[in-house]
Amino acid sequence: MPISLGGIYASLLPDHAAMSGADYIHKGLMDEAEAFLPDYDLVPEWNGSIMFASRGCIRRCGFCSVPKLEGRPSALKYSVKHLIYPGHPKSENCCDKRHHSRVILWDNNILGNPNWRALFDELQELGMVTDFNQGLDARLVTQEVAEKIAHMRMEVVRVAYDYHGIGPFVERAIKLLKEAGVSPRKIVSYTLFNYQDDPEDFFERVRDLLNWGAVCYPMRFEPLTSLEKNRFVSPRWERGELEMVASARRVIGYAGAFPAYEKLVEKFNRAKDFHDAFGLRERSKTKAPEFLREQDQDINGNLEKPRMHVARLHGSLDWREASTLRAEKHQLGE
Ligand code: SF4
Repeated sequence: MPISLGGIYASLLPDHAAMSGADYIHKGLMDEAEAFLPDYDLVPEWNGSIMFASRGCIRRCGFCSVPKLEGRPSALKYSVKHLIYPGHPKSENCCDKRHHSRVILWDNNILGNPNWRALFDELQELGMVTDFNQGLDARLVTQEVAEKIAHMRMEVVRVAYDYHGIGPFVERAIKLLKEAGVSPRKIVSYTLFNYQDDPEDFFERVRDLLNWGAVCYPMRFEPLTSLEKNRFVSPRWERGELEMVASARRVIGYAGAFPAYEKLVEKFNRAKDFHDAFGLRERSKTKAPEFLREQDQDINGNLEKPRMHVARLHGSLDWREASTLRAEKHQLGE
């Protein structure tokens, strides 16, 4: 039987994917798959319906794979009820099976598409927890958008502050959301670094977000053709500085993010530069008490690695957050 290979990897690196031995490499989207429902019966413990109400994006940010993978906006849907796992009482195919309680939209720039208003109204009416997982374009957050979001059940509202130029839009979006009644603690801003920025630029954007009251979630840039995570160091960054960000996220952050905790805001406002803000005091070399060490001994007398508690921002890590944190911990030898 011939084997086809598609998806993000095959679309971005088709020549490399061809070496896999697959008979056919499929680049880009597969239109006929757009209306399929994933087989949620395979993951009975999962409670969220994942879907796209649109593909592509109106913008062409140089660091992003979406323009290459999906191109201009397409596959617009004005209703997504039919993509909610059958069983939710408010979905079209309601039955007595398990219910999904969340709708997770993976649209890359939902506000850039003409269908956003109809979708927002439908999601508000459904009353299910809604997650715009890829973030909202801060430049397109108006008072109307902010008010609709405030009336939806959202645990987290994601935006992005990827470079200084969009700072005024991010600040305005946060202000409008706050005025509409969204708690700033629920506003998370992805914050790109290791691209065309430098450490000082990144530090200033983190400080801005903390002063605006939002949560900063750093996102380390990877070239689109990178085959090894966290290998790339941009010309304006040093590897040691990237490691400082990773350490700070673990030590003074929460779940890899920098929330606008009073002490953290103070620390960033007092800091005179990146190194001052992200430099950490040496860790204590004190060993754990003997009785704690003993209970970690396995039957061979080896010390087991302590089980790591993974803090979760707003209850769940999305796939990008989880993989970034995992890779950074691996890089630090943890
Ligand atoms: S707006 Fe977002 S999805 Fe669109 S190209 Fe830029 S980063 Fe990618």
